[in-house]
Amino acid sequence: MSINVLVVDDSGVMRAMIIKSMKMSGLSLGDIHQAGNGEEGLASLDQNWIDLVVVDINMPVMNGEQMIDSMKLNPETENIPIVVISTEGSKVRLESLKQKGAAFIHKPFTPETIRDTVKDIMNLDDGV
Ligand SMILES: [Mg+2]
Repeated sequence: MSINVLVVDDSGVMRAMIIKSMKMSGLSLGDIHQAGNGEEGLASLDQNWIDLVVVDINMPVMNGEQMIDSMKLNPETENIPIVVISTEGSKVRLESLKQKGAAFIHKPFTPETIRDTVKDIMNLDDGV
């Protein structure tokens, strides 16, 4: 199974780093889509088949938490696995993200961290 992924971050450099790390991690990736904020991310979800969303928290227009809240209100997107990658350290915020079913990766990160977190949240076997 190859994973179609949507990477949402307001920094193009950070999106490129996340994508590079995911490619290096050995995960089997399909189509890779990018968005610069939550609103663009939701529009991409509307138009593409996405298996995994990787999302930043702090973004203009619509932040990651608002995007996740919108995804959870839509039956088409409520069950898509979400990994949050952020420098955000607030325990309250992390706890609320966990309750929404999102996994969390702290910046900076390694390809191994991304691989293990994605495998865990998507219930992938070790062979994948
Ligand atoms: Mg940001």
